Amino acid sequence: MKPRVLHIDPYHIDLELLKQAAEVIHNRGLVAFPTETVYGLGANALDPKAVTGIFDAKKRPLDDPLIVHIADVKDLYRLAEDVPPEAEKLVSCFWPGPLTVVLKKTELVPDLVTTGLETVAIRMPSCAIARKFIEVAGVPIAAPSANLFGRPSPTTARHVIDDLDGRIDIVLDGGSTEIGIESTVVEFMGGRVILLRPGGIDLERIRAIVGDVEMPSRPAARGKSPGEYPQHYSPKARVIVVESGFHQAKRTLSTAAEMVSKGHRVGILARQEHEDLYREFDVKILGPAKDARTCASRLFHLLREFDTEEVDVIVAEAIPEKALGLAVMNRLRKAAGPEPTTNFHPASI
Ligand code: AMP
Ligand code: MG
Repeated sequence: MKPRVLHIDPYHIDLELLKQAAEVIHNRGLVAFPTETVYGLGANALDPKAVTGIFDAKKRPLDDPLIVHIADVKDLYRLAEDVPPEAEKLVSCFWPGPLTVVLKKTELVPDLVTTGLETVAIRMPSCAIARKFIEVAGVPIAAPSANLFGRPSPTTARHVIDDLDGRIDIVLDGGSTEIGIESTVVEFMGGRVILLRPGGIDLERIRAIVGDVEMPSRPAARGKSPGEYPQHYSPKARVIVVESGFHQAKRTLSTAAEMVSKGHRVGILARQEHEDLYREFDVKILGPAKDARTCASRLFHLLREFDTEEVDVIVAEAIPEKALGLAVMNRLRKAAGPEPTTNFHPASI
């Protein structure tokens, strides 16, 4: 069955529509809803049967834990215990907002939500529609991104329907999401703060509050944050990342030309500064390299656009890994998967 699409004006939220969505939640159904990061696919986090529906609809592996969304900080203490001072500081600075904290779970949280882990990931979104929806539902909402597993996260209701048509009950359409990439996920261990996934709150801002933040190496991160797969967020096309630095545009051009010569339909995902150099190609502009916020807000949307054009190779220019650029490059590298990136190589110029 097609999902019901309910249009919600973020400036005049119609509570009657949210009540319809809340009813679906109480009947163990699935509601896709906008947040400031990406669209989430929500179910009652306290009801394992409802949560099963999320894994089924997304085809998400059962070892990839969900983030629980709340509308009131009080709920943090119902869902988690032994909350360390570092977590309290971060939550008081960045909630509501795109920060997820991983904490020791209480009995209230079903094992399915955490896929058997002793810890639970919790976030309070800043998006008014998301918060009102959770409030009206009256229960915490477990919600991963509302896409089929492995695909780029959805930043519009259209993206959700493209992936999940016939698999969910309602989509709350609140327009394009503001940030466009997922939340930052952090964990705490004996006074240490560990970054499990870069995201909408940048590392520099977290460091300003709690001092050092550790970044585990990739294999360790996989063990600690089970949802961090080496390949993820991928369009259907193969993605090749062209690293920043000397002659980046020239390397992008030669990679694109090589792929065309092999018979591929090629798209270039470029920094705005290089736009004019790629006129002969199907080029989409991520944003000015120094404006990581714009790049983040456009990334998933553009990867999906290339898919609709049936491009089969995307040659993507790296941007600096500063501020939100760290999260943008994390997603782009995962979209590329184990594909080698093209570095500066004198012989190639
Ligand atoms: P998604 O909701 O699809 O954006 O992904 C949720 C992210 O949170 C994944 O990267 C998970 O690995 C991570 N996560 C959720 N729960 C936990 C947990 N208990 N411990 C560590 N990471 C978690
Ligand atoms: Mg996801």
